Amino acid sequence: MDDLLSEELRLLRQSIRDIVRDRVAPRASDVDRERDYPEDIFEVFRDQGILSLPFSEAEGGSGAGTAGLAIAVEEVARACATSAQILVLTALSTWPLRIAGSDHFRDAIEGVATGQSRGAFALTEPNASSDLGSLVTRARRTGDGGYVLSGEKDFVSGSTVADYFVVFAKTPTPSAEDEMSCFVVETPHPGIIFLRRDEGMGIKGMPHCDWAFQDCHVTQEARVGDEGDGARIARHSITAIQPLLAARGLGSAEECLAFARDYAADRRIYGGRLADLQNVQLQMADIAINVEATRALTYAAGRLVDEERFFSEGDAAYIFAAKTMSAKTAVHAADRSMQIVGGHGYMEVHPLERMYRDARHLALYMGTDEVLRLQIASAVMDGGLPYGPSVSRQPTEERARPE
Ligand SMILES: Cc1cc2nc3c(=O)[nH]c(=O)nc-3n(C[C@H](O)[C@H](O)[C@H](O)COP(=O)(O)OP(=O)(O)OC[C@H]3O[C@@H](n4cnc5c(N)ncnc54)[C@H](O)[C@@H]3O)c2cc1C
Repeated sequence: MDDLLSEELRLLRQSIRDIVRDRVAPRASDVDRERDYPEDIFEVFRDQGILSLPFSEAEGGSGAGTAGLAIAVEEVARACATSAQILVLTALSTWPLRIAGSDHFRDAIEGVATGQSRGAFALTEPNASSDLGSLVTRARRTGDGGYVLSGEKDFVSGSTVADYFVVFAKTPTPSAEDEMSCFVVETPHPGIIFLRRDEGMGIKGMPHCDWAFQDCHVTQEARVGDEGDGARIARHSITAIQPLLAARGLGSAEECLAFARDYAADRRIYGGRLADLQNVQLQMADIAINVEATRALTYAAGRLVDEERFFSEGDAAYIFAAKTMSAKTAVHAADRSMQIVGGHGYMEVHPLERMYRDARHLALYMGTDEVLRLQIASAVMDGGLPYGPSVSRQPTEERARPE
């Protein structure tokens, strides 16, 4: 299976694996229990150049792309989902700036690539998440060309440690329908008010917080892209990070399977090994099948993003397939592995208990399972998925059709 990855990515995996073993894995259970953002792990990622992986050299990065960052996320997620999520946010908070393509935000991107600053992505609202048309946060134009933001944003991950928020708000148009625009607001900033921290069932080291924007003045330069470009920027940014979320589920599932395998090999039952029971073997086989299918989809999805093939509906659908498959794989692997390990796996001292809780996040975050599947269905009806980066899509009319 080595040809799924280039030689560079295999070497990268090995170096990340060593860092994870020494610096991330020993902290994972404390990060979960203490519910504090792991600043020390962020510093490891910064000092080891892991934060810089997805960015080009011109952006201050090392040019490993999304495929490279996905390998890092996979390895980190084997140990600690919160820490893997730190890497996901690196990408999520900069894709809007990269997609808008303006030189104006070059310093901000370089700041994230070098670990000098961090961003947070503020799209979701109390009454608008999947249905982004319901967004109520408004950006009202002021006489000096700037804007005043008002509204509320929910579940903003990493926001207590962020140096800037990427905020999506409706801007007025001459027609009745306001359009979405995107802004970068440095924090702290007058008019951005902390409301509360939301405690979730998993990813407990990552602060997810709700914020109010009250008469929050920003300059025209804070706008990312053109007025009305926000929906496009949000959509493509969310698409571009899906391979990283898929990699998180992949790493988690691999580790769950490893726990189940090791336990089944050691545990004595009815005078033999637990692994000798066929039901246990079949469960491990099912996890392994899902893991390998997820791996193929995930690595291919990462390459699609690096080839900048995530703007079309068909390519995006392939990328969504990786994330939806991975979210299911991660939950299934955690659930079945816990079943194999039995009561020990249910106890807080066992990593499976944490991994089970962390895995559930994936089917909700940045595109719920249902919303992504609907987009995949739409692409299917529109001619199909591209079958990954190496095979181009055959136009419908060129395919042999039954008479
Ligand atoms: C821990 C955590 C961290 C998060 N961090 C961030 C963040 O940093 N920034 C940010 O902007 N957001 C963030 N979110 C929000 C996240 O990305 C999702 O947008 C949000 O969780 C969607 O959930 P909701 O409850 O609002 O669902 P809704 O959108 O209200 O949907 C409810 C249910 O309806 C289903 N549904 C929706 N539309 C359809 C349809 N057309 N057909 C069938 N079913 C449908 C959904 O799949 C879901 O099952 C975070 C969420 C969580 C849980």
